[in-house]
Amino acid sequence: MPRPALPSGDTRDGFAAHLDWERALFEARWSVVSWPNRYGGRDASLWEWLIFEEEYYRAGAPQRVTQNGIFLLAPSLFEFGTREQRDRILPRMAAGQELWAQGWSEPAAGSDLAGITSRAERDEAAGGWRLYGQKTWTTRGAFCTHLFGLFRTDPAAERHRGLTYFLADLRSPGVEVRGFERLDGDEGFADVYFDGAFVPERDVLGEVNRGWSVAMATTGSERGLTLRSPSRFVTTANRLVELARSGSLDSADLDSGLRDRVVQSWIEARAYHLFTLEQVTGIVAGNSPGARSSLNKLYWSELDVRLHETAMELLGADAEADGPWSRGFEFSLAGPIYAGTNEIQRNIVAERLLGLPRA
Ligand SMILES: Cc1cc2nc3c(=O)[nH]c(=O)nc-3n(C[C@H](O)[C@H](O)[C@H](O)COP(=O)(O)OP(=O)(O)OC[C@H]3O[C@@H](n4cnc5c(N)ncnc54)[C@H](O)[C@@H]3O)c2cc1C
Repeated sequence: MPRPALPSGDTRDGFAAHLDWERALFEARWSVVSWPNRYGGRDASLWEWLIFEEEYYRAGAPQRVTQNGIFLLAPSLFEFGTREQRDRILPRMAAGQELWAQGWSEPAAGSDLAGITSRAERDEAAGGWRLYGQKTWTTRGAFCTHLFGLFRTDPAAERHRGLTYFLADLRSPGVEVRGFERLDGDEGFADVYFDGAFVPERDVLGEVNRGWSVAMATTGSERGLTLRSPSRFVTTANRLVELARSGSLDSADLDSGLRDRVVQSWIEARAYHLFTLEQVTGIVAGNSPGARSSLNKLYWSELDVRLHETAMELLGADAEADGPWSRGFEFSLAGPIYAGTNEIQRNIVAERLLGLPRA
């Protein structure tokens, strides 16, 4: 375990320190336990993976800076990739040699992902495609070597059709990555500009013009279980209880209901844990969560805000501007935005789970 705790993985130095840790995990084959042995994993079942995650977070181990690759792209590679793609890409991803950023959002297409205008044009002579356009808000894009994302390949097709899922090397000619700082000072965010960058045919994931369904599988992983396993929130809730115990909650706090909010937050984290156990039971029985991953996303993101808000209240004037709780609080506020905003998740729940008419 890295001690003291590593600096934020969204800063350049912090990212490098996290990569050392993740490479050490890989050496010991703890980096991708649920993957097959031949890709550096341990063939762990979904249950075993969940237990591993519980122990990982309970021990206070760092969040994974390679998460966009190992938790988002990899499940889509297992589902839609060719054997050649899996054999070539997964081992380097697991080893932290190739680092993946996700490229959905564009300046004029965030919630309305099907409105993207970045495009790919076929280059028959070279045997592949040329990418054009701009992606934005790419998490840790400034430090990554590769990007997966959607590009329009048939401008005449209906919005959701005519999109293709590409795996692009950010070090290619025709790619410019410009990092920019977040409000909290972390510098990993990036704009990525494509101006004729070449992608060979073998780096199309799934079928040409059918990228939307592959992208939806990737976002399902982001909203659901894979990116945000319950242990992360249970651990935060346990830390909150410790924080409450370490201070002296006087009668004014009791009147303000602060003590109740600590208990309530702990209960909600535990409820999310139990909800995901039920979900895993369903997945193991062959039921894909589908639109239900929007429920996960709504729940974990709003829970995370409440957990941190309660901690900030407990700390009061002692909450240091750069302490782990206040940094966690700032980042929790982004939870209802990334992975598809919570307004969009509520639309999905309304239309696809409850069968209400389209807004
Ligand atoms: C920390 C963080 C990390 C991110 N990382 C990445 C990344 O790695 N890769 C990437 O591609 N993107 C990333 N994003 C971008 C994120 O996916 C977008 O910010 C998000 O999808 C919203 O898009 P937008 O910012 O363009 O807002 P807009 O789509 O312009 O939305 C603005 C507001 O309008 C609301 N709204 C829009 N449409 C509707 C509707 N139909 N019904 C109701 N309300 C609506 C939204 O909920 C929101 O409140 C990240 C964002 C954050 C905050």
